[in-house]
Amino acid sequence: MLPRKTTVSAADQELTDLTAYFKEKTAALETLARARATLAADDPVVIEAAKAVDSLKKPLFKTYRKNSVKTQLLALFHGKCAYCETFYPAVAPVDVEHYRPKGGVKDTDHTGYWWLAMDWENLLPSCIHCNRLNEHITPVLSTQLVELRSDHSGFSKQRRATTGKGNHFPILGPRATQDSRDCSTEYALLLNPCRDDPQEHLAFHVDCEKLIGLVLPKPHDGAGLPEVIPTQDLLPEFKGEIDKALEDKLSLRGAVSIHTYGLNRLGLVQDRTRVLRQLAFMEESVKDLCAMILKLEVCRNAPCADENKRIIKRMEALIDRTVRHMKEMAKPQAPYSTMVREYLAGFEKRLV
Ligand SMILES: [Zn+2]
Repeated sequence: MLPRKTTVSAADQELTDLTAYFKEKTAALETLARARATLAADDPVVIEAAKAVDSLKKPLFKTYRKNSVKTQLLALFHGKCAYCETFYPAVAPVDVEHYRPKGGVKDTDHTGYWWLAMDWENLLPSCIHCNRLNEHITPVLSTQLVELRSDHSGFSKQRRATTGKGNHFPILGPRATQDSRDCSTEYALLLNPCRDDPQEHLAFHVDCEKLIGLVLPKPHDGAGLPEVIPTQDLLPEFKGEIDKALEDKLSLRGAVSIHTYGLNRLGLVQDRTRVLRQLAFMEESVKDLCAMILKLEVCRNAPCADENKRIIKRMEALIDRTVRHMKEMAKPQAPYSTMVREYLAGFEKRLV
């Protein structure tokens, strides 16, 4: 985990205000429920109790919006989206994303994890496509591996699906409440790059014969998963693929994250594929140079041996430069560096 600076008293004040608001609201709702249990809906006591609930104004979530927060997140994550590793400053402002939603959880009546709204551990920089709900073209992966169409119109097998995290926060196990504030009972089904190692749950499709920057759930032993999993509660639109992930013993956290964040949306796959093509071009160049060097070394005793040696030296320098560049692409500050590292691991094996 990277060290993070703690925020200042503005955050503490906001938390104090929110705590007071939710305490008051809980009490007002309980009073209303008690009145409704014994009195008619138009009874003045019930009406007054309902007014008391409505009159409570929730304090605004302000601290997390501060520019200083954005600046620190940009530095910590090298300007990349925490979920898809896209370099966002080039195209759009960052969304400061609450891993555990602050204002309510989709498809539940949960209040949201408002007590974590100012907690650094809960804040991540996200591109707008990973964070906001939107319709995207995504591949149908459950049949066969798809291809990118050459006219850039999409995948050979595709569908339109709404992706983006929004207020989604699917879990297994009991959800933390504002009273308990105990998140340790939750098995979160969304990857948190500060807590999880994405490489345990996600695998990039690296096939030099068919380059396409897809990401897939990785085989996983299911550690931490309960024996019975209520899949009907998990993103019903992706139920088929989630069932398949469970059946094939793939990471459920990986599968749910891919679909929720939209990690295989068309634009993202096209961008990752461009990076894979660059890597493949450099790999082929290195291999060609190595083959040419071998041929020149055979002519070691030829009349032009000295000239050959000079050429070999220059070719070796070119190989070094190319490999150095490939390694630069795998550094954390580079877009899609996790995928690049996976490609380079294969490259080393292919060179042997
Ligand atoms: Zn993203």
